[in-house]
Amino acid sequence: MKDCLFCKISNETINVEKIYENKDLIAFNDINPQAPFHILIIPRKHISTINDIENQDKILIGELFIAAKEIAKQNKISKSGYRLIFNCNENGGQTVFHIHLHMLGKRKMSWPPG
Ligand code: 5GP
Ligand code: ZN
Repeated sequence: MKDCLFCKISNETINVEKIYENKDLIAFNDINPQAPFHILIIPRKHISTINDIENQDKILIGELFIAAKEIAKQNKISKSGYRLIFNCNENGGQTVFHIHLHMLGKRKMSWPPG
């Protein structure tokens, strides 16, 4: 998608420090962190919202969680724990319309979320 911020990060039109990447996904720091550790894990494929996930994306979506698990291990937060979030559309608080898995850690999260 030509005008998508996260597609531009994925294809390196915009450069970010990568936390993790492979041929299908990339992870990088959130520009406005809500925890000492706050990264975004995105598929390289443009999918606007969770509502737009298709059956053929099953493996790709699973890979986002496998990446989260690996990133947790690398950053030594597996045991202390972390939170994974997808926001969807207005009520979910989505502001960037290329799906991204928020991964937050290194502090205790509260529940329910705001
Ligand atoms: P959403 O509100 O859509 O769930 O999350 C979008 C996230 O993207 C927000 O946490 C926001 O801080 C982050 N974000 C927005 N623009 C940029 C950017 O240009 N670079 C990075 N690294 N993160 C961004
Ligand atoms: Zn995109």
